[in-house]
Amino acid sequence: MYILLNGKFKQKNEVSIDFEDRGYQFGDGVYEVIRVYNGSYFAMKEHMERFVRSAKEIKIVLQNTAEELTAMLNELLRKNQVQDGAVYMQITRGVTGRKHLFPGQDVKPQIVAYPIPCSKPAAEQEKGIKLHLMEDVRWLRCDIKSLNLLGNVLAKQEAFENGAYEALLHRGEHITEGSSSNFYGVRNGVIYTHPANNLILNGITRMKVVELCEKNGLTLIEEMIKADDLVNLDEAFITSTTSEVIPVIEIDSMKVNGGVPGPVTRELQRLFEEMID
Ligand code: PLP
Repeated sequence: MYILLNGKFKQKNEVSIDFEDRGYQFGDGVYEVIRVYNGSYFAMKEHMERFVRSAKEIKIVLQNTAEELTAMLNELLRKNQVQDGAVYMQITRGVTGRKHLFPGQDVKPQIVAYPIPCSKPAAEQEKGIKLHLMEDVRWLRCDIKSLNLLGNVLAKQEAFENGAYEALLHRGEHITEGSSSNFYGVRNGVIYTHPANNLILNGITRMKVVELCEKNGLTLIEEMIKADDLVNLDEAFITSTTSEVIPVIEIDSMKVNGGVPGPVTRELQRLFEEMID
């Protein structure tokens, strides 16, 4: 497998990460996961824009333009002959002695990108999944795709230990998102999802769902859902790069739509599939 490390292609056994990398010590960096379908990236432009924005928000100065990075990622796909899967890319603030303050300009950010296996979660997409509700204890900049994922990791694990596929996070009385996905509720044919502000990650799949709704006459409103109102939902679903659109049929002990995927969710799954094709 070829790995892209700071603009150079290397074999996996030629790559080592310094133990003083700030990504390793502080989670001081940002990342992207980009889906590959039929040998091409899906929504590369949006992923690259979000990557550039995330880096800017944490004041990492990129050494390459978005165009240069895109060209390198394309070469990475070609060299590895990826057909279906994903590419993981991360940048950290660089390697230096362990101090909280940013290092000087002589310390360069470290970028690494490599292919990761990824296939459709077909069973979950077909049958639907269960979510486990819990408090969102993450920081107030969830719009940055930060390497600091401890809040997300703990939430996903707690969901798993409660027999759920994904966490459903609430901050106070409002639902925010999943541990690695965006959440949507459907009521009387209208789709509701949390506004794209600092409390959630503006998912690329979410952007595509918003676009699909606009193009196909489905009403989507970016409005917070109250945890107390979950019982009134007709349908629910989550989205992410690796999940695509997955119906939610249970939230803890409560069934959604009688425990089967609903028609609006099915329609979005169909439209999403059509878009990928
Ligand atoms: N929200 C969080 C916290 C995530 O980590 C992710 C993806 O990993 C998403 C939402 C979905 O984003 P995307 O559709 O870009 O994969």
